Amino acid sequence: MRAAVVREFNENLSIETVPDPECPESGVVLEVAACGVCRSDYHGWTGHHRMIKNGSVLGHEYCGTVVEAGRNAKHKVGDRLIAPFILGCGSCPSCHTGVSNTCAHQVVPGFGPPGAYAQYVAAPFDHNLVHLPESMSVALAAGLGCRVTTAWHALTDRANVKAGEWVAVHGTGGVGLAAMLLAKMLGAQVVVVDVVQEKLDYAKQLGADEAVNALETPAAAAIRDITGGGAQVSIEALGIEATTNASLECLAILGRHVHVGMPAESDIMPVNMRAIYSKQLSFFGTRGMPSWKYPSLLSMIERGEVDLNPMVAREVSLSGASAELAAMNGPTPPGTAVITDFLN
Ligand SMILES: [Zn+2]
Ligand SMILES: [Zn+2]
Repeated sequence: MRAAVVREFNENLSIETVPDPECPESGVVLEVAACGVCRSDYHGWTGHHRMIKNGSVLGHEYCGTVVEAGRNAKHKVGDRLIAPFILGCGSCPSCHTGVSNTCAHQVVPGFGPPGAYAQYVAAPFDHNLVHLPESMSVALAAGLGCRVTTAWHALTDRANVKAGEWVAVHGTGGVGLAAMLLAKMLGAQVVVVDVVQEKLDYAKQLGADEAVNALETPAAAAIRDITGGGAQVSIEALGIEATTNASLECLAILGRHVHVGMPAESDIMPVNMRAIYSKQLSFFGTRGMPSWKYPSLLSMIERGEVDLNPMVAREVSLSGASAELAAMNGPTPPGTAVITDFLN
């Protein structure tokens, strides 16, 4: 099969013919229909993810059609499925208590096993995979493997956002834009922060109540002004020190910070402990979403409660993925790129 392979960090992915994946006994092989290009891939491509090395195949947010099913697979050949990026084992205490996104035996294709920047991908533990709704485009469905579900879990499980609350979103890339759209659906008021005016304009056009350009004005102070004392919830959607501290400092007393961005530069970063201490803030980490939460989220999208289609800005070919990764080194345009052509 054709796959885009990491050979040298920060260099174009190498388009190669590699062996087709072997089918897991408790899992399936998908013919990939779409795979999102995510900022986590960028961290791997630049050499800042310990699982990515020479020979790795990226791609962790994907959907496709089953072409082979293992002996103990739950799904069958021909099923069109969406995969969450975290595939929980299904038989450990975490999986049994509804938090499969914390499974100690989890498999994440694209960070270790080969991912979906390829014509085919093996997905073990296929009970995690869900049917792709008829009405949904494959490009949008791919984002439901990572950015949309991560944002949904951050808002509904970690922060427990209530209607009427102010939610600040720091970073309006894929996960940030999804967080804004979903927070609006929940009845929250949303202020978005970015350094790219075009992305802020796009977010406002899609329903954000307020927007702050952090290049022009200190974000935390601006948000405290806009919200009359601070946001109740703040989503950090980039993973760097500046946005982490802006997120803590923009919160109201007893506010909830949810850390969504993968900390890429360093494991340790200075954070404003005074803000956490004196405002008695909550600091939540989050990663992925347990797969049992898919049906309710998919049903809301299908009913038209929220339109996530504007998140997909560009459909690209496999050989076009390198340019998308390279572009993340600087300010990026609004929306996300999804690979939907695996033959070019
Ligand atoms: Zn992702
Ligand atoms: Zn498990």
